[in-house]
Amino acid sequence: MAPTEAFAPAKINLTLHVTGQRADGYHLLDSYVVFADFGDVVRVSRAAEMSLRVTGPRAMGVPEDARNLCWRAAEAFGEPVAITLEKHLPAAAGIGGGSSDAAAVLRAMEALFGRTFSGDASALGADVPVCLLGHAARMTGIGETLMPLSQPPMPAVLVNPGVEVSTPEVFRALERKDNPPMDDWPLDGQRDSMLGWLRTQRNDLQAPALALQPVIGAVLAALEETGADIARMSGSGATCFGLFGTREMARAVAERLAEAHPGWWIKDCDLS
Ligand code: ATP
Repeated sequence: MAPTEAFAPAKINLTLHVTGQRADGYHLLDSYVVFADFGDVVRVSRAAEMSLRVTGPRAMGVPEDARNLCWRAAEAFGEPVAITLEKHLPAAAGIGGGSSDAAAVLRAMEALFGRTFSGDASALGADVPVCLLGHAARMTGIGETLMPLSQPPMPAVLVNPGVEVSTPEVFRALERKDNPPMDDWPLDGQRDSMLGWLRTQRNDLQAPALALQPVIGAVLAALEETGADIARMSGSGATCFGLFGTREMARAVAERLAEAHPGWWIKDCDLS
């Protein structure tokens, strides 16, 4: 029987405000999360015992055992399966690769076994619940409180300079943990008011990530030079996004940047 397939899109934090820290160490967040039309693919089949094979252009270095969130998601679902993960997203890149893969495994297993996942998605990682929702959302709490948002597609270019950034290290380098939450966003559905609002919001992890990996500054400068409406880091980095008026503009910018920076991972996409 053909394996059950699920798409694991890149997750982008248009904003990421760190608003506090709980006594147990978990950070409180307020984030506008969207998804790209680009990502990994997982394929899942029934099996006598668990197995995982990682293929694709970004497979190198990705664990094929219980360290992989795909494996842990399948264990949490409670059935042994054979998983193939086709990896297109850079790892440890702030675009939720592992979390999105885990959510895709859960979705594929729901279809395969005909029952919904009843476990705690947030136990697998703060970004897993929003990835399981698979829809633009305002994410608060430690990632478990989700308010779906409707979001017209935003053409974008994603750029990763090839340095891995450790999320715990970035949080450790963050000076203030009690920053203000997001302001209310405009409800008129106009792109210009959305952009105006976005520019006044933040990614609180950008400054500490930049201090750890100064090349992130070069990525943001390169995106700004291309005329991006806004350039910002996603998650704990190092991937940054630039927003553009049309997909054609995004495609042309991606081509130009790829020529100028052959070592960087660069992708045009739509965020929604
Ligand atoms: P976030 O946006 O949530 O910060 P991230 O992009 O920083 O996520 P991942 O891509 O999940 O982080 O990778 C973080 C680490 O987790 C990697 O260094 C890798 O060893 C491990 N890992 C576990 N599962 C996966 C997976 N399915 N794909 C890639 N890396 C994984």
